[in-house]
Amino acid sequence: MSIITLNNVQKSFGEISVLNDVSFSVDKGQVVALIGASGSGKSTALRCIDRLEVINGGSIEVCGHRVDDPHLDLRRLRQDVGIVFQSYNLFPHLTIEQNITLGPLSVKKQPKQDARRLAHSVLEQVGLADKAESYPEQLSGGQQQRAAIARSLAMKPKVMLFDEVTSALDPKLTGEVLRVIERLAGSGMTMIMVTHEMNFARRIADKVVFMHQGRVHESGDASILQQPATSELQDFISNEL
Ligand code: ADP
Ligand code: MG
Repeated sequence: MSIITLNNVQKSFGEISVLNDVSFSVDKGQVVALIGASGSGKSTALRCIDRLEVINGGSIEVCGHRVDDPHLDLRRLRQDVGIVFQSYNLFPHLTIEQNITLGPLSVKKQPKQDARRLAHSVLEQVGLADKAESYPEQLSGGQQQRAAIARSLAMKPKVMLFDEVTSALDPKLTGEVLRVIERLAGSGMTMIMVTHEMNFARRIADKVVFMHQGRVHESGDASILQQPATSELQDFISNEL
């Protein structure tokens, strides 16, 4: 049962066509690795799924929402979709707990006690139970990124989108963030992750979508990373190693 479906998606910025005929789907509980060279359209594809960009053609359906419908209820879409970027964007003047409870309090109008309990449970999930009272600047980059993931999880999303969430981190901190994502995947979360961590993708992805010049050039299960069918994917993998 697919929970995210892109059908012949077109996206241009002015004259420049960035996504051409992009189609793929994600089943409930699936982990999809979206890979490809810089500029191939990965971030744009994720942003279209969360309607941070409006598509010019084709259709996108996410958790029953028609994302390309002009009457889309953006608030409900955003409750179902969690998105985490390379930069964590935590509010520096708020504690980690306040960063996390902000959404549940303001968007979901949850009672304060419930929001706090929720914050502690998602912080537990990402291994930061003891950091609730800390400010972002007191945390390492890896811890801040885990806090950003916790903030997303507090909204109880049905799908998570990760856009190169470890690219700004050194290898040691990368590992701790990847472990959090892996645990989340193991718990059955549906996710699309844009990543350059090929070993990680090989290990946890149920499906790999390789983008090249704005198109899905090759896709399949993780075995395509071992045996790519196209020279473009072959070249991409050699460059990543
Ligand atoms: P990736 O995430 O794979 O590196 P992007 O989706 O960020 O690729 O970008 C794909 C192409 O779209 C690039 O050529 C980029 O310059 C262009 N692009 C992305 N966002 C914009 C924008 N807001 N305006 C104009 N061009 C953009
Ligand atoms: Mg990108």
